[in-house]
Amino acid sequence: DKKQEESLLEMLEDVMELLKPQAKLKNILLEVDGEDRLIYCDRSQLKQVFINIIKNAIEAMEEAGKITVLIQNVDTYVQIDISDEGPGIDEEVIHKLGEPFFTTKQQGTGLGLMITKQLLERHNAKLDILQNEIKGSTFRIVFPT
Ligand code: ADP
Ligand code: MG
Repeated sequence: DKKQEESLLEMLEDVMELLKPQAKLKNILLEVDGEDRLIYCDRSQLKQVFINIIKNAIEAMEEAGKITVLIQNVDTYVQIDISDEGPGIDEEVIHKLGEPFFTTKQQGTGLGLMITKQLLERHNAKLDILQNEIKGSTFRIVFPT
């Protein structure tokens, strides 16, 4: 690991730039909301986490819509909510996410979320998966600072 203080917003903007073409093909808007925060992390590992989650969000959405990343500063941690407007995730599926090779996609590897969880563990961070009230799901990263 190569950990140092990194701008959360900068990493998110890099990732969104990278995924914008894929989102645009489906008329999906990528948006970041909230104030920047410096976090102590391995930049490429954390970017990989965002890529995995946002890519899944794009793949889950069947219609045009929005994916929002909300940064919320709480005293000893930062909470990063990545919300999509996809179909959401069934209760019985939710606890299988992150198991190696669990996928519902024909061409899926089922490795993205497993790797995501491992990379977050190396940062003592946690991943929560929430059901949105109206539509879609939210992948919440709780990151200690
Ligand atoms: P893969 O993308 O190769 O299927 P992942 O580990 O990235 O593997 O994801 C595992 C599974 O989690 C997906 O196949 C999908 O069923 C589910 N999933 C992940 N993100 C979302 C999301 N935003 N909305 C709905 N389902 C999701
Ligand atoms: Mg994936």
